[in-house]
This record gives sequence, C-alpha cells and structure tokens, in this order.
Amino acid sequence: MLKLSRPAIDETAISAVAEVLRSGQLVYGEQGARFETQLKEFLGVRHALVVSSGTAALHLALLALEIGPGDAVFVPDFSFPATGNVVCMVGARPVLVDVDPNSYCMCPAALEAAISAWRGPEIPRALIPVHEFGHAADMTKLMAIAARHDLTVIEDAACALGASHNGQPCGTFGNIGCWSMHPRKTLTTGEGGILASNDELLAIRLGQLRNHGMVRTEQGTFFERPGLNLRLTDIQSALGLALLPRLTGWISHRRWLADTYGKLLAPLAKEGLLSVPASAPGHSWQTYMIVLRRELPRDDIIRGLKNLCIETNLGAQSLAAQPAFRNFPPDPDTCHSRMLYQRGLALPFCESYGVDEAMQVVAALSKVLGMKSGTA
Ligand SMILES: *Cc1c(COP(=O)(O)O)cnc(C)c1O
Repeated sequence: MLKLSRPAIDETAISAVAEVLRSGQLVYGEQGARFETQLKEFLGVRHALVVSSGTAALHLALLALEIGPGDAVFVPDFSFPATGNVVCMVGARPVLVDVDPNSYCMCPAALEAAISAWRGPEIPRALIPVHEFGHAADMTKLMAIAARHDLTVIEDAACALGASHNGQPCGTFGNIGCWSMHPRKTLTTGEGGILASNDELLAIRLGQLRNHGMVRTEQGTFFERPGLNLRLTDIQSALGLALLPRLTGWISHRRWLADTYGKLLAPLAKEGLLSVPASAPGHSWQTYMIVLRRELPRDDIIRGLKNLCIETNLGAQSLAAQPAFRNFPPDPDTCHSRMLYQRGLALPFCESYGVDEAMQVVAALSKVLGMKSGTA
C-alpha cells in the first residue's frame, strides 16, 4: 500500500531520542528550551513555545487572549475541525466563513460579508485564518480587515510550518501563531504543537497556562492563575530538534513533487475530470489535494484506489457539515467549502516520494476515473 504520507525519521533522530530516554530527563527541560530557541530563529519571532499538540496551541491562544463566552470568532468552514472545536471549548461562538476555491483558505470578501451580516448577541472578537495544506491565507487582506474591525488574529498554521506569504513566515502575522507536529504534518514529534508571538506578556501568559499557571521566583513557586498541563516532553523535543534542520530541504522537495504531480495530472485536468491545486511561491505543500468533477463519486474512487494499493483521503472537512457545529449554521453560505469537502481528494504526498510514486498514483487514478466516468 502506498500510504498517504510517511514521516521521514532517520537514525540520527532515533539516536537523539534514545539519548533522552537514557538521560532520565523526560518531561519539558533542556531539549524543549533548545528546540524553542531554534524555532524562534526559524520563524523570526521573539517568543516560541512548544506544547503537546496543535489543538493545545490553539486552545491556549484563546485562553491567553481571554476569549470566551460572549465572544464571536470567525473561522474558515474548510479545515480540520480542531480550528472550530477550540472556540466552542472556551465557550465562544464560532462563525463559519467560506473559503476561496483556489487557495482553500478563508476568503477575505466572505469574511467582510460575515462580519457585516453578524447579528448575534456575541461580540466579534477574533478570527482564526487557516493556512490550509501549507498554502498561505491572504494575510495582507485579512490583517487589514482585522484592523478595521478591531479583531484579534490567531493563525492556525498547523499545516504550514515553513510556509510563507510575501516572504514572511505564515503564523507570524497575527497576535499568536499556532502549528502542529502531528505525524501528518511536515515536521513531526509524534504529537506536538508550537505557539509563537512577538508579545512578551502574551508569551508569559501562554507559558504559565501550559504549565499549571506556575511561576518560579526566588521567593518560591506560586500558582499565578489556573492552568493546564499541555507541555511537550523532552523525548519529543529531541525528535523535533533532530528533524528541524531538514525541513527546508523537505519543503523544496515537496514543491518539486507538487509540480511533478501537476504535469502528470494535466491530461486528466484537460479532460475536465479534476482540477489540480493552485501553486503559490511560499506554499509548503503539507497536503496535495485535487478537486474531482462534480458527478464523480469520490468515496467510490477512494475505495477503487485502495484496491490498487493507493491510499487517498478527503482533504479537510466542512465544519458546517459536522454534527459538532449543528448549532452554528453558517451565514452567509459556505458553498466553496462544502464543494471542497465533498469533492476534495488528497493524494499520497511526502518528502520520500518521487516521480515513480507520482506516476503510480496518476496511473491508478486514470484507471479508476476511466471506470467511474465511462471515458478512457
Ligand atoms: C492538524 C491540524 C490541527 C490539529 O493539530 P493536532 O496537532 O493534531 O492537534 C488544527 N488545525 C489544522 C488546520 C490542522 O491541519
């Protein structure tokens, strides 16, 4: 089976993890602090914190910004549901916004429309743009809208470590940036997340919230505020430290692979059977999601490909289509996100795949599409 993706963990990384296991220092410590220093440099931010997951990063960002009951938070309707779940978990109201059909990211015009149309009792407080699959959201326009409406910006850059918009790293435009290091993401620590901010007070608050609200001073240890334990272990940080130097090279390979897929898929696209994802200069290509023609039965195609030993999946969810968000019907309409949810198909894609894998996938896809569409 050709898997959707496979984390690239080399012997150096395995040795680094083994060393931590032998040391006996397993929870957040020296490795975590070193990893944070490296991430700060990589992202060009004043403060970076490692946490237990991307969801933990988003949750802590909302808590640190004191977003909760009575607040409305604008969230793109096409994402992994964690982006909206965290808003519900702090008692705020998610407002689902349609995405751009080319970038798959929050559409600035739809955001404007959603803000104008908002009549709820909750007060608009924040937006959480998602850099979907490593394609940067239009941060120039989104930041301008946020400034005009006095909204806080939390960036969900879960898929976009190493991606950029006009040369600036995704996740460094808003008040707080959040990344994931789940194995499906470009850099993995098994589970893990990153928070970044240039605001020192926010960074201090985030650090306390991830660690029981604890503060250590010369006078002793105090619990400044109620907090959680969402720390990353040093076992995980050692893995991240060993892999981070390889990230830029991996992203270059991913850009080449996306380009290769684009060329191989061109005949099928020309036939109108599918469309390939839009490229962009700073794209980090965490996922390569094509969009199938309307009438094609996507879930049958996934099964057909599985029979040919190719693992594929839908790309991301429409939050509005999930039971968890049944109380938050989108207004205005989220037609593009629904379309991408129903017709998106993520193809096998990672740094260890080359032209052979891409050809194998496209050949299988042609075969399955030929059977399903009655052409070829
Ligand atoms: C993966 C992902 C998350 C969640 O990250 P975890 O580390 O799995 O908690 C959140 N948002 C988006 C857009 C994601 O892709």
